[in-house]
Amino acid sequence: MGNTYVIVAETKGDRLRQVSLEAIHAAALASHKEDKRIALLLGHQLKEAADELALYAEVILIDHPDLAAYQAETYFAALTQALDPIQPHAVIFGHTAIGRDLAPQIAAHLSAGQISDVTAISENGDAITYTRPLYAGKAFENRQFSSSPQVITIRPNNIAPAQPASTSSSITELSYTPSTSLRSVIKDVVSKSAGRIDLTEAKVVVSGGRGVKSKAGFQPLEELAEVLQGAVGASRGACDAGYCDYSLQIGQTGKVVTPEIYIACGISGAIQHLAGMSQSRIIIAINKDPEAPIFKVADYGIVGDLFEVVPLLTEEFRKLLC
Ligand code: FAD
Repeated sequence: MGNTYVIVAETKGDRLRQVSLEAIHAAALASHKEDKRIALLLGHQLKEAADELALYAEVILIDHPDLAAYQAETYFAALTQALDPIQPHAVIFGHTAIGRDLAPQIAAHLSAGQISDVTAISENGDAITYTRPLYAGKAFENRQFSSSPQVITIRPNNIAPAQPASTSSSITELSYTPSTSLRSVIKDVVSKSAGRIDLTEAKVVVSGGRGVKSKAGFQPLEELAEVLQGAVGASRGACDAGYCDYSLQIGQTGKVVTPEIYIACGISGAIQHLAGMSQSRIIIAINKDPEAPIFKVADYGIVGDLFEVVPLLTEEFRKLLC
């Protein structure tokens, strides 16, 4: 009998998040053929997402109105109700806001070791090595578990997503017994980014800094992002100046993104900003100042005024892509 690997899947609205498919592939990389892989989906009215997930792994679904919006206490209670009878060898989360919140709690509950923010998984003989960045991507470390259970979080956009099978696996519904002693209750969720591409999963990120100069200055960046089917991000400088919402902030105290293409417009390249984007595959910097530190990490640099360069890029990409 093999070990059981549980992947905690996530949805955005009623759609599966890409990072959940990456986590399923991560489980395949970390496990052996004879091991069992189960995707655990928690939420409310997620039938379609569960059906989609079943193309990738056997599914356990916990559907309950109390799980409609994420709350640590309810999700922890539901997760442990599902995990305790399974006694998993490993539990894999996306390194998302939810994964980062839940994984350590689950690790403590299971007395498990935890390796977080994994960007690659490799096998040497029987040993599985997990690679994770350190010091804002300036170094990498390779880690192995010396015991089980194990808890792993994987950084979005680094491990390829699993491929769907031609037939669906089973979906088992588990009931959830709500806790009677919640210390806080969600009354309302006000979403600021409904319908937008998730910044942490976007393949292209067009980011603006203090150089965009105003709220309206983000408009050309929005247009470029739309043509490239990407998302708009920002430096803290732009957020602090009130040009955009803090939900767009990338960096040490913001989101970590690893898109295929990161376009930094009017961003100087402070170390705290680099902490959130330096692992992007291709970095393009547009800055008036040829000495701006962002050019040290950029694969391509354009010295110029972003208000001239960005519309030109949009026009050219539109010709190519639309
Ligand atoms: P600036 O440094 O002011 O750079 C603006 C750039 O725009 C300049 O390089 C300028 O040449 C260029 N420019 C101006 N006009 C144009 C134009 N028309 N065309 C082209 N280029 C133009 N920062 C983050 O981003 N994320 C974080 O998570 C973060 N966390 C932090 C945590 C701590 C504890 C601290 C102390 C700081 C943190 N910061 C963070 C702030 C960080 O140190 C920088 O202050 C911030 O990143 C600067 O933002 P910026 O590059 O947009 O602005």
